Amino acid sequence: MVYVSLQSPTDRDYSYELRIAHLYGDLMNTYGDNGNVLMLKYVAEKLGARVTVDIVSMGDELIPEDYQLIFFGGGQDYEQSIIAKDLPRKRQSLETYIHNDGVLLAICGGYQLLGQYYIEAGGRKIDGLGILGHYTLNQENNRFIGDIKIENETFNETYYGFENHQGRTFLSEDEKPLGRVVYGNGNNGEDQTEGLHYKNVFGSYFHGPILSRNANLAYRLVTTALRKTYGQDIALATYDDILSLETPEEYKDIKSKAEMSQS
Ligand code: GLN
Repeated sequence: MVYVSLQSPTDRDYSYELRIAHLYGDLMNTYGDNGNVLMLKYVAEKLGARVTVDIVSMGDELIPEDYQLIFFGGGQDYEQSIIAKDLPRKRQSLETYIHNDGVLLAICGGYQLLGQYYIEAGGRKIDGLGILGHYTLNQENNRFIGDIKIENETFNETYYGFENHQGRTFLSEDEKPLGRVVYGNGNNGEDQTEGLHYKNVFGSYFHGPILSRNANLAYRLVTTALRKTYGQDIALATYDDILSLETPEEYKDIKSKAEMSQS
């Protein structure tokens, strides 16, 4: 049963609607990944959009036209093996959504399962959705755990996160990474790539959650989804206006509050 998990307050005037599908949100939600949904809601409301979030899980039909943004979080091998049984049911809808430039963010276990397959820590192979070309191998008695920083050359942005995965992901030729690793392991610890960017699909190993640590990426996802729905030329508040804390006044204000609380 698809059920609504979060809704914007109804006592405000909104210019737009943003409908989010939280894919397998009741199962795939490790390390605070659900915070990404809260961050999407926060940014969308600042941009004047009323938000609804549906959890679309086991046995539910995913109707691609019903959503402007899909979030697919991380999970342990156990949860991944459960949802793998349901993935074929959603494959066609997700493929249509992705090829129509739908906006999608997938983290860790979700990111792995958008690809061809994932080899569990114990060596068992789980088939992914097979929509995108990447695949994920296992590693023996090791996990990639720790802080990570990457640079995205296309957007000229820096992203920070915390990774915790045993899988080693390798991108296909038509997939770009979300960024080049500055420090940390990233996709596989070998080729300095982290995550994936393909059309409007963003994949990453970053927990933290990624969007609350990287408001620039949250702004990019929400504005891309709203512009795709309402037109490229709609007037939206700038990132600096709603999210940046770097204007001199705000910075001074925050700094003096922090100093006062220390004294
Ligand atoms: N189980 C997967 C791995 O260990 C994904 C982990 C996660 O989503 N944090 O690689």
